[in-house]
Amino acid sequence: MIVEMKDIEMIYETWSEKTKVLDIPQFDIDIGEQIAIFGPSGSGKSTLLHIMSGLLLPTQGSVKVCGEFVHKLSEAQRDHFRSRNIGYIFQTFNLLQGYTAMENVLMGMTFSPGKADRAAAKKLLEQVGLGGKMKRRPYHLSFGEQQRVSVARAIANKPKLILADEPTGSLDPHNSVEIIKLLKEICKEHGCSLVIVSHNMDMISFFEHTVDFKKLNRTLQVQEALK
Ligand code: ADP
Ligand code: MG
Repeated sequence: MIVEMKDIEMIYETWSEKTKVLDIPQFDIDIGEQIAIFGPSGSGKSTLLHIMSGLLLPTQGSVKVCGEFVHKLSEAQRDHFRSRNIGYIFQTFNLLQGYTAMENVLMGMTFSPGKADRAAAKKLLEQVGLGGKMKRRPYHLSFGEQQRVSVARAIANKPKLILADEPTGSLDPHNSVEIIKLLKEICKEHGCSLVIVSHNMDMISFFEHTVDFKKLNRTLQVQEALK
């Protein structure tokens, strides 16, 4: 297993109220698996990915990712865990604007045990179809191209698991399909597991393995029942 989550509960507490966002009895993902989780906006998908990557600790429950009990690690250990094991892809790309595509990918390698490797970065950018645009800065690339750079950056550290949070949320339908295909292909080639979360059901037909977040997360079932 690449992910084993058990009895997960996440409660957000603000000054005025407590909200239970996640109640997940069990969620396991096999090594090498590629899954897409679909659920409406505000249902806790980003929260789930933050917990998987150790950005956030659940209020309760056990989180084992890439062989480590993430919830038992200190914040510094979780940062280290994330840099060694996880590649993240965001809806808004999160590229560093002042740097070229090549530099963005090289920076993705900063935390890896090996040093920044220009030849490897070049190969990755070629693989995502940007061989001719490596010296461009993000604002001279289309949204689709920027997301290709972030795919190359995410895989550059040789992660065991890629977490993609609404990776097609800023893209048109054509580029959305291309990015999904690219992500699947690149993860397969690099032996990396893949978890995509999305609210956009249009993408569902491109995955063999999909998860209905309403079935996984029991807080949503309670909300449905109360309607
Ligand atoms: P999704 O990614 O499915 O849109 P999120 O995980 O971002 O959902 O958010 C789930 C719910 O938790 C939302 O109602 C959101 O407002 C709330 N939430 C998210 N982050 C926080 C936080 N840091 N503090 C309080 N509430 C939060
Ligand atoms: Mg979200």
